[in-house]
Amino acid sequence: MTDPTATPGERRLPTDADVVIIGSGPAGAAYARILSERAPSARLVIVEAGPCVSTPPGAHVKNIADPDERARAQRRSEGPRPHVDDVSSDTMDGYTSAEARLQRPGTFLLTSGWRQDGEDGLPAAAMSSNVGGMGAHWTGACPRPGESERIDFLDDLDDLLDEAERLLGVSADALADAPLASTVRARLSAALDDGRTPDRRVQPMPLAVRRTDSGLVWSGADVVFGDETRSNPNAVLIDEALATRVLVDGERVTGARVRDLRTGEEQEIPSPFVVVAADSLRTPQVLHASGIRPPALGRYLNDQPQIVHAVRLRDVDPVADASTGDTTITAQSGVSWVPFTDALPFHGQVMQLDASPVPIEGDIVPGSIVGLGWFCAKDLQASDRVAFDDGEVDDYGMPAMRIHYTLTDRDRATLDTARRAILEAGESLGEALDPEPLVFPAGASLHYQGTVRMGAVDDGTSVCDSRSQVWGVRGLHVAGNGVIPTATACNPTLTGVALAVRGARHIADALTTH
Ligand code: FAD
Repeated sequence: MTDPTATPGERRLPTDADVVIIGSGPAGAAYARILSERAPSARLVIVEAGPCVSTPPGAHVKNIADPDERARAQRRSEGPRPHVDDVSSDTMDGYTSAEARLQRPGTFLLTSGWRQDGEDGLPAAAMSSNVGGMGAHWTGACPRPGESERIDFLDDLDDLLDEAERLLGVSADALADAPLASTVRARLSAALDDGRTPDRRVQPMPLAVRRTDSGLVWSGADVVFGDETRSNPNAVLIDEALATRVLVDGERVTGARVRDLRTGEEQEIPSPFVVVAADSLRTPQVLHASGIRPPALGRYLNDQPQIVHAVRLRDVDPVADASTGDTTITAQSGVSWVPFTDALPFHGQVMQLDASPVPIEGDIVPGSIVGLGWFCAKDLQASDRVAFDDGEVDDYGMPAMRIHYTLTDRDRATLDTARRAILEAGESLGEALDPEPLVFPAGASLHYQGTVRMGAVDDGTSVCDSRSQVWGVRGLHVAGNGVIPTATACNPTLTGVALAVRGARHIADALTTH
Protein backbone atom coordinates (compact mmCIF):
# COMPACT_ATOMS: atom_id res chain seq x y z
CA MET A 1 0.00 0.00 0.00
CA THR A 2 1.63 3.23 -1.05
CA ASP A 3 2.28 6.12 1.34
CA PRO A 4 -0.79 8.34 1.62
CA THR A 5 1.25 11.27 2.86
CA ALA A 6 3.01 11.79 -0.44
CA THR A 7 3.29 15.46 -1.38
CA PRO A 8 1.06 16.85 -4.18
CA GLY A 9 3.88 16.86 -6.72
CA GLU A 10 4.51 13.18 -6.10
CA ARG A 11 1.07 11.77 -6.17
CA ARG A 12 -1.12 10.91 -9.10
CA LEU A 13 -4.63 9.58 -8.94
CA PRO A 14 -4.62 6.12 -10.52
CA THR A 15 -6.10 5.86 -13.99
CA ASP A 16 -7.45 2.33 -13.59
CA ALA A 17 -8.41 -0.18 -10.90
CA ASP A 18 -10.03 -3.56 -10.35
CA VAL A 19 -11.74 -2.37 -7.17
CA VAL A 20 -12.23 1.21 -5.93
CA ILE A 21 -13.00 1.42 -2.21
CA ILE A 22 -14.51 4.72 -1.03
CA GLY A 23 -13.76 5.34 2.66
CA SER A 24 -10.97 3.91 4.83
CA GLY A 25 -12.79 3.16 8.11
CA PRO A 26 -13.07 -0.40 9.43
CA ALA A 27 -15.58 -1.37 6.71
CA GLY A 28 -13.50 -0.13 3.76
CA ALA A 29 -10.36 -1.56 5.36
CA ALA A 30 -12.08 -4.98 5.69
CA TYR A 31 -12.67 -5.06 1.92
CA ALA A 32 -9.01 -4.11 1.31
CA ARG A 33 -7.77 -6.82 3.70
CA ILE A 34 -9.91 -9.67 2.40
CA LEU A 35 -9.13 -8.74 -1.21
CA SER A 36 -5.39 -8.52 -0.40
CA GLU A 37 -5.59 -12.02 1.09
CA ARG A 38 -7.85 -13.66 -1.49
CA ALA A 39 -7.17 -11.76 -4.72
CA PRO A 40 -3.63 -10.39 -4.29
CA SER A 41 -3.21 -9.50 -7.94
CA ALA A 42 -6.28 -7.24 -7.97
CA ARG A 43 -5.46 -3.53 -8.21
CA LEU A 44 -7.10 -1.84 -5.23
CA VAL A 45 -7.58 1.90 -4.95
CA ILE A 46 -8.80 3.20 -1.60
CA VAL A 47 -9.89 6.84 -1.62
CA GLU A 48 -10.42 8.69 1.65
CA ALA A 49 -11.83 12.20 1.99
CA GLY A 50 -9.89 12.99 5.17
CA PRO A 51 -6.16 13.22 5.87
CA CYS A 52 -3.87 10.55 7.27
CA VAL A 53 -3.48 11.49 10.96
CA SER A 54 -1.69 8.49 12.48
CA THR A 55 0.92 5.80 11.83
CA PRO A 56 0.42 3.18 10.48
CA PRO A 57 -2.40 4.71 8.40
CA GLY A 58 -5.71 4.32 10.23
CA ALA A 59 -4.16 3.74 13.66
CA HIS A 60 -6.21 4.69 16.72
CA VAL A 61 -5.35 8.18 17.99
CA LYS A 62 -5.45 6.89 21.59
CA ASN A 63 -2.18 5.12 20.78
CA ILE A 64 -0.52 8.51 20.25
CA ALA A 65 1.23 9.08 23.57
CA ASP A 66 1.82 12.82 23.32
CA PRO A 67 -1.43 14.65 24.22
CA ASP A 68 -0.71 17.63 21.94
CA GLU A 69 0.01 15.37 19.01
CA ARG A 70 -3.14 13.35 19.80
CA ALA A 71 -5.22 16.54 19.93
CA ARG A 72 -3.78 17.61 16.56
CA ALA A 73 -4.76 14.26 15.05
CA GLN A 74 -8.27 14.69 16.45
CA ARG A 75 -8.61 18.25 15.05
CA ARG A 76 -7.47 17.04 11.62
CA SER A 77 -10.20 14.38 11.71
CA GLU A 78 -12.97 16.90 12.31
CA GLY A 79 -13.62 17.80 8.67
CA PRO A 80 -13.83 21.30 7.28
CA ARG A 81 -14.98 22.75 10.64
CA PRO A 82 -12.80 21.40 13.44
CA HIS A 83 -13.13 22.38 17.11
CA VAL A 84 -11.74 25.85 17.51
CA ASP A 85 -11.29 25.90 21.27
CA ASP A 86 -8.94 23.83 23.35
CA VAL A 87 -10.80 20.60 23.99
CA SER A 88 -9.77 17.62 26.02
CA SER A 89 -8.43 14.73 24.01
CA ASP A 90 -10.31 12.32 26.32
CA THR A 91 -13.17 10.78 24.38
CA MET A 92 -15.07 10.12 27.62
CA ASP A 93 -15.26 13.82 28.41
CA GLY A 94 -18.87 14.93 28.48
CA TYR A 95 -20.02 11.41 29.32
CA THR A 96 -22.76 12.82 31.52
CA SER A 97 -23.26 16.07 29.63
CA ALA A 98 -26.79 17.04 28.66
CA GLU A 99 -25.56 19.30 25.88
CA ALA A 100 -27.73 18.53 22.87
CA ARG A 101 -25.05 19.16 20.25
CA LEU A 102 -22.11 17.62 22.06
CA GLN A 103 -19.18 17.24 19.66
CA ARG A 104 -16.78 14.45 20.58
CA PRO A 105 -13.06 14.87 19.85
CA GLY A 106 -12.25 13.51 16.40
CA THR A 107 -15.80 13.98 15.12
CA PHE A 108 -17.84 16.80 13.61
CA LEU A 109 -21.58 17.47 13.58
CA LEU A 110 -23.96 18.23 10.74
CA THR A 111 -24.01 21.98 10.24
CA SER A 112 -27.64 22.03 9.11
CA GLY A 113 -30.53 19.73 8.32
CA TRP A 114 -30.24 17.69 11.51
CA ARG A 115 -33.84 18.29 12.56
CA GLN A 116 -37.04 19.04 10.61
CA ASP A 117 -40.02 20.93 12.06
CA GLY A 118 -42.10 18.81 14.41
CA GLU A 119 -39.58 15.94 14.50
CA ASP A 120 -36.98 14.84 17.04
CA GLY A 121 -34.10 14.92 14.57
CA LEU A 122 -30.54 13.74 15.23
CA PRO A 123 -28.94 16.75 16.94
CA ALA A 124 -25.79 14.79 17.81
CA ALA A 125 -25.31 13.09 14.41
CA ALA A 126 -21.56 13.05 13.84
CA MET A 127 -18.92 11.91 11.37
CA SER A 128 -15.13 11.66 11.17
CA SER A 129 -13.01 12.45 8.12
CA ASN A 130 -9.59 10.86 8.35
CA VAL A 131 -7.80 7.71 7.30
CA GLY A 132 -9.42 5.12 9.59
CA GLY A 133 -12.68 7.09 9.93
CA MET A 134 -14.42 6.86 13.30
CA GLY A 135 -12.40 3.70 13.81
CA ALA A 136 -9.45 5.92 14.78
CA HIS A 137 -11.52 7.40 17.63
CA TRP A 138 -13.81 4.62 18.85
CA THR A 139 -14.05 2.81 22.18
CA GLY A 140 -13.51 -0.59 20.59
CA ALA A 141 -16.47 -2.42 22.16
CA CYS A 142 -17.26 -5.39 19.91
CA PRO A 143 -20.19 -7.40 21.30
CA ARG A 144 -21.88 -9.99 19.12
CA PRO A 145 -25.50 -9.43 18.12
CA GLY A 146 -28.00 -11.79 19.78
CA GLU A 147 -31.64 -12.89 19.39
CA SER A 148 -33.50 -10.48 17.04
CA GLU A 149 -30.38 -8.38 16.51
CA ARG A 150 -29.10 -11.20 14.31
CA ILE A 151 -29.76 -11.26 10.57
CA ASP A 152 -31.89 -14.34 10.11
CA PHE A 153 -31.30 -14.81 6.37
CA LEU A 154 -27.51 -15.16 6.80
CA ASP A 155 -26.74 -18.73 7.84
CA ASP A 156 -22.99 -17.99 7.88
CA LEU A 157 -23.28 -15.07 10.32
CA ASP A 158 -21.23 -16.75 13.07
CA ASP A 159 -18.39 -17.53 10.68
CA LEU A 160 -18.46 -13.91 9.48
CA LEU A 161 -18.40 -12.63 13.06
CA ASP A 162 -15.40 -14.89 13.80
CA GLU A 163 -13.64 -13.39 10.83
CA ALA A 164 -14.56 -9.83 11.87
CA GLU A 165 -13.07 -10.53 15.32
CA ARG A 166 -9.87 -11.67 13.63
CA LEU A 167 -9.69 -8.55 11.46
CA LEU A 168 -10.40 -6.16 14.34
CA GLY A 169 -8.16 -7.99 16.82
CA VAL A 170 -10.99 -8.53 19.30
CA SER A 171 -10.42 -10.14 22.68
CA ALA A 172 -12.68 -10.59 25.68
CA ASP A 173 -9.66 -11.20 27.90
CA ALA A 174 -7.59 -8.05 27.44
CA LEU A 175 -9.10 -6.25 30.44
CA ALA A 176 -11.18 -9.01 32.04
CA ASP A 177 -8.74 -9.31 34.92
CA ALA A 178 -8.51 -5.57 35.67
CA PRO A 179 -8.49 -5.25 39.47
CA LEU A 180 -12.10 -4.13 39.96
CA ALA A 181 -13.59 -5.86 36.91
CA SER A 182 -14.60 -9.08 38.64
CA THR A 183 -16.32 -7.13 41.43
CA VAL A 184 -18.29 -5.13 38.86
CA ARG A 185 -19.28 -8.27 36.95
CA ALA A 186 -20.21 -10.23 40.08
CA ARG A 187 -22.52 -7.47 41.31
CA LEU A 188 -24.16 -6.99 37.92
CA SER A 189 -24.57 -10.77 37.48
CA ALA A 190 -26.25 -11.17 40.84
CA ALA A 191 -28.72 -8.42 39.96
CA LEU A 192 -29.38 -9.06 36.27
CA ASP A 193 -28.57 -12.64 35.14
CA ASP A 194 -31.71 -14.34 36.31
CA GLY A 195 -33.62 -15.84 33.35
CA ARG A 196 -30.90 -15.13 30.78
CA THR A 197 -29.38 -17.79 28.53
CA PRO A 198 -25.62 -18.27 29.09
CA ASP A 199 -24.58 -16.19 26.06
CA ARG A 200 -26.76 -13.31 27.25
CA ARG A 201 -25.43 -13.13 30.80
CA VAL A 202 -23.18 -10.41 32.17
CA GLN A 203 -19.62 -10.92 30.89
CA PRO A 204 -16.44 -9.06 29.98
CA MET A 205 -16.96 -6.85 26.93
CA PRO A 206 -15.09 -8.14 23.88
CA LEU A 207 -12.75 -5.28 22.97
CA ALA A 208 -10.63 -4.43 19.95
CA VAL A 209 -7.46 -3.96 21.92
CA ARG A 210 -4.30 -5.88 22.66
CA ARG A 211 -1.97 -5.80 25.60
CA THR A 212 1.69 -5.27 24.91
CA ASP A 213 4.70 -4.82 27.18
CA SER A 214 4.38 -1.08 26.77
CA GLY A 215 0.64 -0.86 27.36
CA LEU A 216 -2.71 -1.24 25.64
CA VAL A 217 -2.80 -0.83 21.88
CA TRP A 218 -6.25 -0.02 20.53
CA SER A 219 -7.28 -1.37 17.15
CA GLY A 220 -8.05 1.10 14.41
CA ALA A 221 -8.44 0.52 10.70
CA ASP A 222 -4.66 -0.13 10.65
CA VAL A 223 -5.27 -3.48 12.37
CA VAL A 224 -8.00 -4.31 9.85
CA PHE A 225 -5.75 -3.39 6.91
CA GLY A 226 -3.05 -5.55 8.46
CA ASP A 227 0.37 -6.26 7.01
CA GLU A 228 -1.39 -8.13 4.21
CA THR A 229 -2.77 -4.86 2.80
CA ARG A 230 0.21 -2.72 3.76
CA SER A 231 2.60 -5.04 1.94
CA ASN A 232 0.29 -5.47 -1.07
CA PRO A 233 2.06 -3.72 -3.98
CA ASN A 234 -1.27 -3.59 -5.83
CA ALA A 235 -3.06 -1.55 -3.16
CA VAL A 236 -3.02 2.25 -3.12
CA LEU A 237 -4.48 4.43 -0.37
CA ILE A 238 -5.07 8.05 -1.31
CA ASP A 239 -6.03 10.41 1.48
CA GLU A 240 -7.71 13.81 0.99
CA ALA A 241 -9.49 12.41 -2.07
CA LEU A 242 -13.26 12.71 -2.22
CA ALA A 243 -15.36 10.35 -4.31
CA THR A 244 -17.99 12.66 -5.79
CA ARG A 245 -19.93 9.93 -7.58
CA VAL A 246 -19.87 6.39 -8.81
CA LEU A 247 -20.20 5.81 -12.53
CA VAL A 248 -22.78 3.45 -13.94
CA ASP A 249 -23.50 2.16 -17.41
CA GLY A 250 -26.92 0.55 -17.52
CA GLU A 251 -26.97 -2.10 -14.80
CA ARG A 252 -23.22 -2.21 -14.18
CA VAL A 253 -20.87 0.03 -12.24
CA THR A 254 -17.97 1.32 -14.33
CA GLY A 255 -15.88 3.32 -11.89
CA ALA A 256 -15.79 6.35 -9.63
CA ARG A 257 -15.20 10.06 -10.02
CA VAL A 258 -12.69 11.36 -7.50
CA ARG A 259 -11.63 14.89 -6.53
CA ASP A 260 -8.11 15.40 -5.19
CA LEU A 261 -8.87 17.77 -2.30
CA ARG A 262 -5.28 19.02 -2.28
CA THR A 263 -5.31 20.22 -5.88
CA GLY A 264 -9.01 20.39 -6.75
CA GLU A 265 -8.40 18.16 -9.78
CA GLU A 266 -11.09 15.61 -10.63
CA GLN A 267 -10.57 12.34 -12.38
CA GLU A 268 -12.56 9.26 -13.32
CA ILE A 269 -11.11 5.94 -12.20
CA PRO A 270 -12.57 3.15 -14.33
CA SER A 271 -13.20 -0.03 -12.32
CA PRO A 272 -15.53 -3.04 -12.58
CA PHE A 273 -16.09 -3.01 -8.80
CA VAL A 274 -16.76 -0.07 -6.51
CA VAL A 275 -17.34 -0.36 -2.76
CA VAL A 276 -18.92 2.65 -1.03
CA ALA A 277 -17.86 2.45 2.63
CA ALA A 278 -18.32 6.13 3.45
CA ASP A 279 -20.29 5.75 6.75
CA SER A 280 -24.05 5.45 7.24
CA LEU A 281 -24.79 9.05 6.30
CA ARG A 282 -22.32 9.59 3.47
CA THR A 283 -22.68 6.21 1.72
CA PRO A 284 -26.29 7.06 0.71
CA GLN A 285 -25.03 10.58 -0.12
CA VAL A 286 -22.57 9.21 -2.70
CA LEU A 287 -25.28 6.99 -4.21
CA HIS A 288 -27.76 9.87 -4.32
CA ALA A 289 -25.17 12.15 -5.96
CA SER A 290 -24.62 9.41 -8.56
CA GLY A 291 -28.32 9.22 -9.42
CA ILE A 292 -28.60 5.76 -7.85
CA ARG A 293 -31.71 6.15 -5.76
CA PRO A 294 -33.49 2.90 -4.86
CA PRO A 295 -36.66 3.50 -2.81
CA ALA A 296 -35.04 2.40 0.48
CA LEU A 297 -31.96 4.63 0.07
CA GLY A 298 -31.35 6.57 3.28
CA ARG A 299 -34.45 5.06 4.94
CA TYR A 300 -34.77 2.96 8.12
CA LEU A 301 -32.08 5.23 9.58
CA ASN A 302 -31.64 4.20 13.18
CA ASP A 303 -29.55 5.45 16.01
CA GLN A 304 -29.58 3.64 19.33
CA PRO A 305 -31.37 5.80 21.92
CA GLN A 306 -28.87 6.02 24.76
CA ILE A 307 -29.23 6.52 28.47
CA VAL A 308 -26.31 7.01 30.85
CA HIS A 309 -25.72 6.97 34.57
CA ALA A 310 -22.63 7.35 36.76
CA VAL A 311 -22.04 5.41 39.97
CA ARG A 312 -19.39 5.28 42.69
CA LEU A 313 -18.65 1.64 43.48
CA ARG A 314 -19.42 0.85 47.09
CA ASP A 315 -17.04 -0.98 49.43
CA VAL A 316 -14.01 -1.25 47.21
CA ASP A 317 -10.47 -0.94 48.51
CA PRO A 318 -7.68 0.75 46.64
CA VAL A 319 -5.75 -1.78 44.61
CA ALA A 320 -2.20 -1.74 43.38
CA ASP A 321 -1.76 0.42 40.32
CA ALA A 322 -2.98 -1.66 37.42
CA SER A 323 -1.70 0.77 34.87
CA THR A 324 -0.43 -0.99 31.79
CA GLY A 325 1.39 2.12 30.73
CA ASP A 326 -1.87 3.34 29.27
CA THR A 327 -3.78 6.33 30.56
CA THR A 328 -7.16 5.31 29.29
CA ILE A 329 -10.40 4.67 31.04
CA THR A 330 -10.33 0.98 31.52
CA ALA A 331 -7.26 0.06 33.49
CA GLN A 332 -8.86 -0.52 36.90
CA SER A 333 -12.43 -1.63 36.33
CA GLY A 334 -12.36 -3.03 32.79
CA VAL A 335 -15.44 -2.97 30.58
CA SER A 336 -18.43 -5.15 31.47
CA TRP A 337 -21.23 -6.10 29.12
CA VAL A 338 -24.94 -6.63 29.79
CA PRO A 339 -26.15 -8.21 26.52
CA PHE A 340 -29.35 -7.37 24.62
CA THR A 341 -32.34 -9.69 24.87
CA ASP A 342 -35.68 -9.48 23.09
CA ALA A 343 -37.40 -9.17 26.48
CA LEU A 344 -35.10 -6.31 27.50
CA PRO A 345 -34.26 -4.71 24.13
CA PHE A 346 -31.20 -2.77 25.18
CA HIS A 347 -27.56 -3.48 25.79
CA GLY A 348 -25.39 -2.19 28.61
CA GLN A 349 -21.75 -1.28 28.83
CA VAL A 350 -20.17 -0.45 32.19
CA MET A 351 -16.77 1.16 32.16
CA GLN A 352 -14.48 3.22 34.26
CA LEU A 353 -14.62 7.01 34.07
CA ASP A 354 -11.24 8.64 34.50
CA ALA A 355 -12.60 11.26 36.84
CA SER A 356 -15.91 11.83 38.50
CA PRO A 357 -18.24 13.82 36.24
CA VAL A 358 -19.53 15.61 39.37
CA PRO A 359 -17.44 16.95 42.28
CA ILE A 360 -17.13 14.42 45.14
CA GLU A 361 -16.02 14.99 48.71
CA GLY A 362 -13.18 12.88 50.09
CA ASP A 363 -10.78 10.41 48.51
CA ILE A 364 -11.90 8.41 45.51
CA VAL A 365 -10.56 4.89 45.05
CA PRO A 366 -8.96 4.91 41.56
CA GLY A 367 -11.28 3.23 39.11
CA SER A 368 -14.28 3.33 41.44
CA ILE A 369 -16.31 5.80 39.39
CA VAL A 370 -18.02 3.89 36.61
CA GLY A 371 -20.24 5.03 33.78
CA LEU A 372 -23.18 2.89 32.73
CA GLY A 373 -24.31 3.33 29.13
CA TRP A 374 -27.48 1.58 27.98
CA PHE A 375 -28.17 1.54 24.22
CA CYS A 376 -31.72 0.74 23.04
CA ALA A 377 -32.88 -0.95 19.83
CA LYS A 378 -34.89 1.59 17.78
CA ASP A 379 -38.39 0.93 16.54
CA LEU A 380 -37.58 0.89 12.80
CA GLN A 381 -39.58 3.17 10.50
CA ALA A 382 -39.13 3.83 6.78
CA SER A 383 -39.90 7.50 7.48
CA ASP A 384 -36.73 7.88 9.57
CA ARG A 385 -34.27 8.78 6.88
CA VAL A 386 -31.42 10.84 5.59
CA ALA A 387 -32.65 12.65 2.50
CA PHE A 388 -30.63 14.97 0.28
CA ASP A 389 -31.22 18.45 -1.04
CA ASP A 390 -30.25 18.80 -4.70
CA GLY A 391 -30.35 22.59 -4.35
CA GLU A 392 -27.85 22.86 -1.51
CA VAL A 393 -24.44 21.41 -0.84
CA ASP A 394 -22.45 20.59 2.30
CA ASP A 395 -18.91 21.69 3.11
CA TYR A 396 -17.55 19.07 0.70
CA GLY A 397 -19.81 20.21 -2.14
CA MET A 398 -21.94 17.06 -1.84
CA PRO A 399 -25.79 17.16 -1.67
CA ALA A 400 -26.80 18.58 1.74
CA MET A 401 -28.34 16.13 4.22
CA ARG A 402 -31.84 16.48 5.61
CA ILE A 403 -32.48 14.19 8.59
CA HIS A 404 -36.06 13.04 9.24
CA TYR A 405 -36.23 11.28 12.59
CA THR A 406 -38.79 10.67 15.32
CA LEU A 407 -38.97 8.45 18.36
CA THR A 408 -42.14 6.36 18.50
CA ASP A 409 -44.27 5.52 21.53
CA ARG A 410 -42.51 2.16 21.57
CA ASP A 411 -39.12 3.91 21.66
CA ARG A 412 -40.25 5.99 24.63
CA ALA A 413 -41.50 2.85 26.40
CA THR A 414 -38.15 1.09 25.74
CA LEU A 415 -36.26 4.09 27.11
CA ASP A 416 -38.44 4.01 30.20
CA THR A 417 -37.69 0.30 30.76
CA ALA A 418 -34.00 0.98 30.13
CA ARG A 419 -34.13 3.77 32.72
CA ARG A 420 -35.43 1.35 35.32
CA ALA A 421 -32.85 -1.27 34.30
CA ILE A 422 -29.92 1.14 34.52
CA LEU A 423 -31.09 2.28 37.97
CA GLU A 424 -31.25 -1.36 39.07
CA ALA A 425 -27.77 -2.03 37.68
CA GLY A 426 -26.45 1.13 39.33
CA GLU A 427 -27.93 0.21 42.70
CA SER A 428 -26.24 -3.18 42.52
CA LEU A 429 -22.86 -1.45 42.06
CA GLY A 430 -22.90 1.48 44.45
CA GLU A 431 -24.16 4.99 44.92
CA ALA A 432 -25.46 7.04 42.01
CA LEU A 433 -23.74 10.38 41.51
CA ASP A 434 -26.99 11.87 40.18
CA PRO A 435 -30.33 10.36 41.15
CA GLU A 436 -31.69 10.35 37.58
CA PRO A 437 -29.99 8.77 34.56
CA LEU A 438 -29.57 11.04 31.56
CA VAL A 439 -31.11 10.41 28.15
CA PHE A 440 -28.64 11.50 25.51
CA PRO A 441 -29.76 13.53 22.49
CA ALA A 442 -30.53 11.39 19.45
CA GLY A 443 -27.42 10.69 17.41
CA ALA A 444 -25.11 10.57 20.42
CA SER A 445 -24.68 6.79 20.17
CA LEU A 446 -22.63 7.29 16.96
CA HIS A 447 -24.17 3.98 15.86
CA TYR A 448 -26.20 4.86 12.77
CA GLN A 449 -27.57 1.98 10.80
CA GLY A 450 -30.07 0.95 8.13
CA THR A 451 -29.56 3.59 5.44
CA VAL A 452 -28.27 1.14 2.80
CA ARG A 453 -29.73 -1.93 4.41
CA MET A 454 -29.34 -5.48 3.24
CA GLY A 455 -32.35 -7.62 2.28
CA ALA A 456 -33.04 -11.21 1.30
CA VAL A 457 -35.18 -10.07 -1.65
CA ASP A 458 -35.58 -6.88 -3.63
CA ASP A 459 -38.95 -5.76 -2.29
CA GLY A 460 -38.25 -2.04 -2.00
CA THR A 461 -37.33 -2.18 1.69
CA SER A 462 -33.61 -2.77 1.16
CA VAL A 463 -30.79 -1.27 -0.92
CA CYS A 464 -28.50 -4.28 -1.35
CA ASP A 465 -28.53 -8.06 -1.43
CA SER A 466 -26.96 -10.40 1.13
CA ARG A 467 -23.53 -9.88 -0.46
CA SER A 468 -23.93 -6.08 -0.07
CA GLN A 469 -24.32 -5.60 -3.83
CA VAL A 470 -26.76 -2.81 -4.66
CA TRP A 471 -29.91 -4.22 -6.22
CA GLY A 472 -29.81 -3.76 -9.99
CA VAL A 473 -26.22 -2.37 -10.18
CA ARG A 474 -23.71 -5.17 -10.72
CA GLY A 475 -20.30 -4.55 -9.16
CA LEU A 476 -21.50 -1.78 -6.82
CA HIS A 477 -21.23 -2.68 -3.13
CA VAL A 478 -22.13 -0.71 -0.02
CA ALA A 479 -20.44 -1.24 3.32
CA GLY A 480 -20.54 -0.16 6.95
CA ASN A 481 -23.20 -0.03 9.64
CA GLY A 482 -25.74 1.30 7.15
CA VAL A 483 -25.95 -2.23 5.68
CA ILE A 484 -27.23 -3.74 8.96
CA PRO A 485 -30.97 -4.41 8.47
CA THR A 486 -31.98 -5.31 12.02
CA ALA A 487 -32.64 -3.05 14.98
CA THR A 488 -29.50 -3.67 16.99
CA ALA A 489 -28.68 -2.27 20.40
CA CYS A 490 -25.15 -3.68 20.50
CA ASN A 491 -22.26 -1.61 19.19
CA PRO A 492 -22.41 -2.23 15.44
CA THR A 493 -18.85 -2.16 14.09
CA LEU A 494 -18.21 -5.90 14.52
CA THR A 495 -21.42 -6.69 12.62
CA GLY A 496 -20.67 -4.07 9.96
CA VAL A 497 -17.22 -5.56 9.39
CA ALA A 498 -18.69 -9.10 9.30
CA LEU A 499 -21.04 -8.07 6.49
CA ALA A 500 -18.12 -6.40 4.67
CA VAL A 501 -16.24 -9.72 4.83
CA ARG A 502 -19.12 -11.42 3.03
CA GLY A 503 -19.17 -8.77 0.28
CA ALA A 504 -15.39 -8.81 -0.12
CA ARG A 505 -15.34 -12.60 -0.46
CA HIS A 506 -17.90 -12.30 -3.24
CA ILE A 507 -15.75 -9.78 -5.15
CA ALA A 508 -12.61 -11.89 -4.57
CA ASP A 509 -14.42 -14.94 -6.00
CA ALA A 510 -15.56 -12.94 -9.03
CA LEU A 511 -12.03 -11.60 -9.65
CA THR A 512 -10.30 -14.93 -9.28
CA THR A 513 -12.69 -17.13 -11.25
CA HIS A 514 -12.82 -14.96 -14.40
P1 FAD B 1 -16.14 5.24 9.32
O1 FAD B 1 -15.21 4.67 10.29
O2 FAD B 1 -16.92 6.42 9.72
O3 FAD B 1 -15.32 5.58 7.99
C1 FAD B 1 -15.93 6.15 6.86
C2 FAD B 1 -14.88 6.93 6.11
O4 FAD B 1 -15.40 7.30 4.82
C3 FAD B 1 -14.48 8.25 6.79
O5 FAD B 1 -13.11 8.28 7.03
C4 FAD B 1 -14.88 9.32 5.77
O6 FAD B 1 -14.00 10.43 5.73
C5 FAD B 1 -14.88 8.55 4.47
N1 FAD B 1 -15.73 9.19 3.45
C6 FAD B 1 -16.99 9.65 3.58
N2 FAD B 1 -17.44 10.14 2.42
C7 FAD B 1 -16.44 9.97 1.51
C8 FAD B 1 -16.32 10.27 0.13
N3 FAD B 1 -17.34 10.80 -0.58
N4 FAD B 1 -15.14 10.00 -0.49
C9 FAD B 1 -14.10 9.43 0.21
N5 FAD B 1 -14.19 9.13 1.54
C10 FAD B 1 -15.35 9.38 2.17
N6 FAD B 1 -18.53 1.39 17.47
C11 FAD B 1 -18.51 0.20 18.10
O7 FAD B 1 -18.92 -0.81 17.53
N7 FAD B 1 -18.05 0.08 19.37
C12 FAD B 1 -17.62 1.15 20.07
O8 FAD B 1 -17.19 1.01 21.22
C13 FAD B 1 -17.65 2.42 19.46
N8 FAD B 1 -17.26 3.52 20.13
C14 FAD B 1 -17.18 4.71 19.48
C15 FAD B 1 -16.68 5.81 20.18
C16 FAD B 1 -16.46 7.01 19.50
C17 FAD B 1 -15.93 8.20 20.26
C18 FAD B 1 -16.75 7.11 18.11
C19 FAD B 1 -16.46 8.38 17.34
C20 FAD B 1 -17.30 6.02 17.43
C21 FAD B 1 -17.54 4.82 18.10
N9 FAD B 1 -18.05 3.69 17.46
C22 FAD B 1 -18.09 2.50 18.11
C23 FAD B 1 -18.50 3.74 16.07
C24 FAD B 1 -17.44 3.15 15.12
O9 FAD B 1 -16.30 3.95 15.14
C25 FAD B 1 -18.05 3.03 13.73
O10 FAD B 1 -19.10 2.09 13.83
C26 FAD B 1 -17.06 2.55 12.67
O11 FAD B 1 -15.95 3.38 12.58
C27 FAD B 1 -17.79 2.51 11.32
O12 FAD B 1 -16.88 2.10 10.32
P2 FAD B 1 -17.08 2.55 8.80
O13 FAD B 1 -15.89 2.11 8.08
O14 FAD B 1 -18.40 2.07 8.33
O15 FAD B 1 -17.20 4.15 8.84
